[in-house]
Amino acid sequence: MSIQRTLSIIKPDGVKKNVIGKIVAMFEAQGLSPIAMRMTHLSRAEAEGFYAVHNKRPFFGELVEFMTSGPVVLMVLEGEGAIDRNRAIMGATDPAQADDGTIRKLFAESKGTNTVHGSDAPETAAAEIAYFFRGLELSPRSGAPITANPS
Ligand code: ADP
Ligand code: MG
Repeated sequence: MSIQRTLSIIKPDGVKKNVIGKIVAMFEAQGLSPIAMRMTHLSRAEAEGFYAVHNKRPFFGELVEFMTSGPVVLMVLEGEGAIDRNRAIMGATDPAQADDGTIRKLFAESKGTNTVHGSDAPETAAAEIAYFFRGLELSPRSGAPITANPS
């Protein structure tokens, strides 16, 4: 494995539940370090653009409504195998299927309202990081260069 970067979002339900700190602590305790972080309230256009890959899915409207329902925390996480590690810490999309101790098992309510987003592959991580952050907004902590995804 190598040092990777991935995009993490604490979704509106996680912010409303006041568990930003608990979620960041789980990442930090399991080898992922935030190298960029910003709180924002996504516009409809920003949410639709971010989830454009899902725009033909039946849940797309619901997903955009949810993601624009309140503030979110956007983060770039860096660490060894960060993409898969983040997915493991998050747990399955449906909290009913998520392993014990994962973020979604602990905090998520449903398949739609599921507390966190995480990139699913190197290409999507690079695109998602670039969607929200300029290179100069990243503060690398591993000694890796300032590119979206060193590999
Ligand atoms: P993940 O976030 O685990 O990568 P997907 O990429 O499949 O999951 O879906 C993106 C997001 O769309 C999910 O996190 C969830 O918020 C929402 N979503 C996915 N499937 C459904 C569904 N069947 N009903 C409602 N919302 C869904
Ligand atoms: Mg996904």
